[in-house]
Amino acid sequence: MAPDTAGKSSLRTCIRIQNTLGSDIVQLSSGLEYLASASNAWSLYNTVDRPTCIVFPRNASHVQLAMAAIFRDKIRYAVQSGGHSAMTGWNTVQDGILFFFSYMKDVSYDPASDSITLQPGIHWGEALTALEPLGVAPLGGRLGDVGTGLLLGGGLSYLSGEYGFSSNAYRELDVVLVTGELVTATATNKYADLFRALKGGANRFGIVTRYLVDAIHIGTNDEKNFFGGLILYPNSSAEALVYATEKYVRTVNDPKASILMAFTSGINGSVVTGSHILTLFYRDAELPQSICGDFLSIPATYTQLSAVSYIEANNILGPGADRGFGQLFGASAFNGGVDQYMNAFRRWNEHTFAVKESLSGTVLAFTPIIDHQISVGRANGGNLMDPPGGNYAAVQVQSQMKSGVLFPSSTLLSSRQRFLDQIPRSPGLPLYINECSASQNVFSTYGKYNEMRRTYSKYDPTRFNMRYTDGPMGL
Ligand SMILES: Cc1cc2nc3c(=O)[nH]c(=O)nc-3n(C[C@H](O)[C@H](O)[C@H](O)COP(=O)(O)OP(=O)(O)OC[C@H]3O[C@@H](n4cnc5c(N)ncnc54)[C@H](O)[C@@H]3O)c2cc1C
Repeated sequence: MAPDTAGKSSLRTCIRIQNTLGSDIVQLSSGLEYLASASNAWSLYNTVDRPTCIVFPRNASHVQLAMAAIFRDKIRYAVQSGGHSAMTGWNTVQDGILFFFSYMKDVSYDPASDSITLQPGIHWGEALTALEPLGVAPLGGRLGDVGTGLLLGGGLSYLSGEYGFSSNAYRELDVVLVTGELVTATATNKYADLFRALKGGANRFGIVTRYLVDAIHIGTNDEKNFFGGLILYPNSSAEALVYATEKYVRTVNDPKASILMAFTSGINGSVVTGSHILTLFYRDAELPQSICGDFLSIPATYTQLSAVSYIEANNILGPGADRGFGQLFGASAFNGGVDQYMNAFRRWNEHTFAVKESLSGTVLAFTPIIDHQISVGRANGGNLMDPPGGNYAAVQVQSQMKSGVLFPSSTLLSSRQRFLDQIPRSPGLPLYINECSASQNVFSTYGKYNEMRRTYSKYDPTRFNMRYTDGPMGL
């Protein structure tokens, strides 16, 4: 549909749902709340579109009513929770309808069932802060400003080694299907296939309006149940860090241990400065040398290691709330030898230098996914990513544009694509959708891709979601 026609027909739909739900819940393109929400997204590229209206649901029935109208009138739409998607278009829409969950931010703990209920608009930092006095936490992410969309992509936290991907802690999900029908999916009811698909299926399977998840007993802020922190390294330590990262991924399968190794380049003018950040945590009173000794022996510029609470661990890198930069992610997955890691490091440097005029920074990050994480997830019902057994690294590349630049140049896009082509995943490993490029067919890398396609056809037989909202390809 041409933009004019799309705009007119979405305006008709917006006015109809506004007539029913009221002008607080359905806001047309004026007013401070509309503008702040339309331009909320973390990646500047996702702040450019102007939806015809924004729906601010207070409960699932508002999502149902709006979604049914969107389906009936064939309107483009998008959903935004924490706003941290780096894939352009995945949490915003031009001339369509945006669901924005800023009024659905409740979080609560039920001791009887030892579970936590989350509404989709809460951010992980808010959830941890609210639950900290009770000594429990949901499995979420590692930075406070990120939101619940993380669960739909899988979810990696400092507790993943012990409990699996964050979405493995689901107990029950309320989901509004494309038709507007509301269903509750669990591991054992008639929507068990949908339940599984929402562990990695991203925004393709419906709009989740309630997550009921396991409570993890991590202690209060006064209980320093973790030991760890961060270490900053100079660029001269980079090669040793590449070796230590590969060795860690290959050899450590201790559920209490967690690291995130991020190689970073800051670009000021045309000067590129490499500096590298390791966060490491161990769920005990001290860090075993056998696990972290290599990293501790590498020359560092700054080391901050101590006993910490879980909430302190999650604050160690700050909230991740910085806005104002166009962002692009890309993913790979490694279980090869050190050459594979060294190649990625060198190619990342080449990419950074080739397009440094457009960028303010780049990151090459490794999150080990240990065998225990995979097996504990499988024992808990599994997910459609279904990595094969054995340790591997989820590899993330991030390109951050210069401040205020609204669109990526074609030179940058082709350099990034070349870089991604140069660091292919090891055969059989799934890519991590929360860290991918929109150009990567992540679903096709999942162990249970065929199951995912069957489930998608069952719940969205007209492929409405694929046709009317941006998101992962492959269904
Ligand atoms: C600074 C930063 C730190 C990060 N750290 C981690 C980390 O530690 N661990 C990790 O696993 N990932 C991490 N990520 C990646 C993160 O998981 C993804 O960006 C995730 O998609 C963010 O979710 P969100 O709710 O914040 O974003 P949004 O952009 O709001 O949502 C992400 C996607 O999910 C869809 N979506 C959101 N809510 C719903 C819903 N209720 N129903 C249906 N679809 C929905 C959106 O449409 C969008 O496509 C990080 C990203 C950034 C930018």
